[in-house]
Amino acid sequence: MNAKNPLKLLQIALPVPFRHYFHYLLPENDGGEHWQVGARVKVPFGSRELIGIFMAFAEQSDVPTDKLKCATQLLDYNSLISNDILELCLWASEYYHHPIGEVLINSLPILLRQGKSADVHQEKYWFLTLQEQQSSLKFTPRQREVVDFIKRHPEGVCANQFKLAGMSKAIIHALNKKGVIGVRLGDENPSINDGNKQSLQLNEAQAHAVSAIKAASDHFQTFLLDGVTGSGKTEVYLQVIQHVLNEQKQVLVLVPEIGLTPQTIQRFRERFSVPVIALHSNLSKKERLNAWRRAHSGKAKIIIGTRSAVFTSLPQIGLIVVDEEHDLSFKQQDNFRYHARDVAIMRAYFKKIPIVLGSATPALETLHKAKQGKFTHLILPNRAGAAVLPEFFVLDIRNKQLEEGLSQSILDEIRQHVQRGEQVMLFLNRRGFAPVLMCHACGWMAVCTRCDMRMTYHKRTQRLHCHHCDSQTKMFVQCRACDAKELQPVGLGTERLEHVLQKNFPDYSIARIDRDTTQRKGSMEALLESIHSGKHHILIGTQMLAKGHHFPNVTLVTIVDADGGFFSADFRALERMGQLVLQVAGRAGRVEKKGKVMIQTHHPDHPLLHQLFHVSYQQFATMILQERLATALPPYSYFALFRAEAHQIKHAMDFLLEVKKLFHSVGKELQLLGPLPAPMPRKAGRYRVQLLLQATQRPVLQSFLKEWLPEIEKMKMKRRVRWSLDVDPVEMY
Ligand code: ADP
Ligand code: ZN
Ligand code: ZN
Repeated sequence: MNAKNPLKLLQIALPVPFRHYFHYLLPENDGGEHWQVGARVKVPFGSRELIGIFMAFAEQSDVPTDKLKCATQLLDYNSLISNDILELCLWASEYYHHPIGEVLINSLPILLRQGKSADVHQEKYWFLTLQEQQSSLKFTPRQREVVDFIKRHPEGVCANQFKLAGMSKAIIHALNKKGVIGVRLGDENPSINDGNKQSLQLNEAQAHAVSAIKAASDHFQTFLLDGVTGSGKTEVYLQVIQHVLNEQKQVLVLVPEIGLTPQTIQRFRERFSVPVIALHSNLSKKERLNAWRRAHSGKAKIIIGTRSAVFTSLPQIGLIVVDEEHDLSFKQQDNFRYHARDVAIMRAYFKKIPIVLGSATPALETLHKAKQGKFTHLILPNRAGAAVLPEFFVLDIRNKQLEEGLSQSILDEIRQHVQRGEQVMLFLNRRGFAPVLMCHACGWMAVCTRCDMRMTYHKRTQRLHCHHCDSQTKMFVQCRACDAKELQPVGLGTERLEHVLQKNFPDYSIARIDRDTTQRKGSMEALLESIHSGKHHILIGTQMLAKGHHFPNVTLVTIVDADGGFFSADFRALERMGQLVLQVAGRAGRVEKKGKVMIQTHHPDHPLLHQLFHVSYQQFATMILQERLATALPPYSYFALFRAEAHQIKHAMDFLLEVKKLFHSVGKELQLLGPLPAPMPRKAGRYRVQLLLQATQRPVLQSFLKEWLPEIEKMKMKRRVRWSLDVDPVEMY
């Protein structure tokens, strides 16, 4: 009876892997007056209940009326997904060919996805009562720790912050009983930002950049802010942001996963007195919800966040900044495979606002668009202030005696720097002790049984790790092939590097920063803190150390192994290598002291290395772009990658062969490559096969995908495999 009235049929997006909407009837006794597009609704789905998003009242349904179910309950009287976000999600769903329901629900914080109320939530904040500040109460060391912690956070400390700092509830309650600390309820930390840090006097290039971006405040325009490390890009962002804040608008700042350091957040908080929200991985679910609410209500003015923050609801958004736009972490590599930078550009486009992409080493795609004139190219050629760019030394290590991977000249150089009281940094993008464990008697190597890849030896734990699937085993005593007790670690990882350096520099303190030393929450912050305090003289790190950090006292940076990029099957490997090496090098000499960068390589004469170190990143990039043009690789063509995984390789192969047949009739506009085993053919016990689609025109690729995906959905064979589609893939493994 309901369905006769067209207004009573609900069209709902559900977080399930189907590329269509679902129809439901209005709940009984609900007249439909309160239903707003973008509100959450609870519905029965199979044997479960799901939370979806109300999209529209439908006119009719393919499902017979008597088969339609009633929605259980409307959860919000106000829309949680604004028109902006809806438009953005619809675009992203279409472009990346990902189910709309999943895209929409992903834009909300977890607690809202689970059906929690979107209303104001009151968090407890602890603060010091006056008593303590005056009296000389006695504390246990651990109580003292808590008191000092709260002193450092005059804005109040919530439960999760105590937890992260490793402080127990019992101590907090004891202090509360003593009357030393009290609690305040609030929906947000009051901001105690001083906001009084003065802006700097801009140099000419910065001033030009700021005025160009300001002039775009009323329309869509994409800027590439291309400035060497330390050239003052952040200062440009800050001054443009000030302008946007003056217009009562909000600003979204996207940063790479490892770029969201306390230092970064601090820099924004010091400059502005408006509420600044950081969306980082240490937030509890509650804090995330609170952050979302403050953004959605327009109270928070600056939102700094990683990839997923691009979908944050911001009613008065006036500017987007993507810092380190080349960074890989902006691309989501599973499920909904979007690129946050590209989504951000579309968001700016829909909203008619400017967007700034900043980097010292822009992605080739971005540089290409700048060259075409689609993006406005702003260049900051020099370091700001008194700092100068470091000097590069390429060390030819062919035929050189190495002490566990380090040449004598590097060791000598390190000695000079630490003796002067300066810090040195060594970069090696491989954790563990040694990447290979080999039998000296027969040549056998330890291999992961689930991935067919070599296991990395970790000395401290005496275990072998597969860095691809995370499986681990105890270290073997004997060779698995010939039983000889001659197993030897081969090659160099950060753990081994630490050993070598300890041996050579017993009087100096060494800090190692990689995934193994920073697993515990808060340990990264603690390590960074002690580096800044000057406690450590030698820093060893993987790419975790490469980005965003500012170590004023580091005067020597060593790239232990620059050769990795030459051997990869991925056509982007050289671009990546260049970006990473320059980012690492950029940590050197960021203040007055001139920095030195030493690079060990077996390819000292490689023309690309020469461009990179002695000419410029732009020239390096131009050379690679020429190669890409000659070979018709992105950005001169467009890729979409079908991946399939199965326990039997045949199932994955057969599935993609079927997919290939669908596209076969298409003709020359679309090139098909594969199906072929992936560069990493087996991972965690599953065989991996891929089929690459390549087109010279993006719309061609898109329209074929749109046409044929529904057919793929119908294929019976798909049940035997896990498959996915990656539009604009950035990694081919
Ligand atoms: P980037 O973001 O490009 O790496 P930053 O904005 O962090 O560069 O600036 C690097 C350093 O230079 C910082 O210490 C900053 O305070 C300083 N700086 C930036 N702009 C200026 C300027 N116009 N005058 C003096 N110092 C500056
Ligand atoms: Zn052996
Ligand atoms: Zn494995």
